[in-house]
Amino acid sequence: MEDTERRYPPISPLTTGLAGRCPRCGDGKLFSGFLTVAPRCEVCGLDYAFADSGDGPAVFVTLIAGFLVLGAALAVDLAYEPPLWVYIVFFGPLTIFVCLGMLRPLKGLLIASQYTNKAAPGRLEKP
Ligand SMILES: [Zn+2]
Repeated sequence: MEDTERRYPPISPLTTGLAGRCPRCGDGKLFSGFLTVAPRCEVCGLDYAFADSGDGPAVFVTLIAGFLVLGAALAVDLAYEPPLWVYIVFFGPLTIFVCLGMLRPLKGLLIASQYTNKAAPGRLEKP
């Protein structure tokens, strides 16, 4: 695997991850579905078996979307004091769109960072 990695120049995980591209070549698709990681890159053949972002994307989405949407709701409340149905009709769907919109790019970013930093679960080595 190290021999094949030498042929590819290092690419920023920010650009490849946010775009949902292969972290090694930057051309192949990282996802085969909305959030389903493809088995391997169709361009360079990188096996995506290492990719396990776990709950990381959901945590970041929750924190960022909560900050944005709740901040906007508080600003609207302070400025206009609208009735309750405005929050339900406007901020409910806004929350869903913001969360779904950020989930895939953040998952791609975490997987690309995992590849770049060679992050893997800890394991015990035999002495
Ligand atoms: Zn690739």
